[in-house]
Amino acid sequence: MKRIGILALQGAFAEHKRTICELGAKVIEIRKKDDLTENKLDGIILPGGESTVIGKLLNELDIFNTLHQMIRDGLPVMGTCAGLILLAKNITNDEHRYLEAMDITVKRNAYGRQLGSFHIISKFKGIGDIPMTFIRAPYIECVSEMEGVEVLAKVNGNIVAAKQKNMLVTAFHPELTRDLRVHRYFLESCI
Ligand code: GLN
Repeated sequence: MKRIGILALQGAFAEHKRTICELGAKVIEIRKKDDLTENKLDGIILPGGESTVIGKLLNELDIFNTLHQMIRDGLPVMGTCAGLILLAKNITNDEHRYLEAMDITVKRNAYGRQLGSFHIISKFKGIGDIPMTFIRAPYIECVSEMEGVEVLAKVNGNIVAAKQKNMLVTAFHPELTRDLRVHRYFLESCI
């Protein structure tokens, strides 16, 4: 049985847990450094929430460096929304940087107030049409194709899902719909 860590410091981690359990994998909630080091993980999910808060807690709880190293060493990681922001190397409208792992440039709260939250059905490469729920979401302004980043989905011309090596990110929240296909896609990469 695959063992998937879910960062459970803040935000929408319970919904990821339910989805991963439904797909038959074991969930390990990550709340402290030992949870990362004492479990053999096949992958990890960084959920949505508030990137500034999660970033601060990662440091305060002394999880940051260990997580950073595990991702550099190739642990499969899926970041949704705030999780995407945490993985980005560049953020255009925030002076903070977090894990700086993925060669993408991200804009936080990119849809402005009026379109703060919305739902759409759109195409995801390799999967098909899927429901996408956006909540005060970022989008990816550009990716480095030279570094091997692959765009997986676009909405209104903006990149909303991408992957690079062991990293998969979505600006939307697949865990808030009943469609399991994005999580299944991630689990397939956790070998
Ligand atoms: N607006 C949040 C941020 O900037 C992300 C929102 C979300 O994860 N749903 O971190």
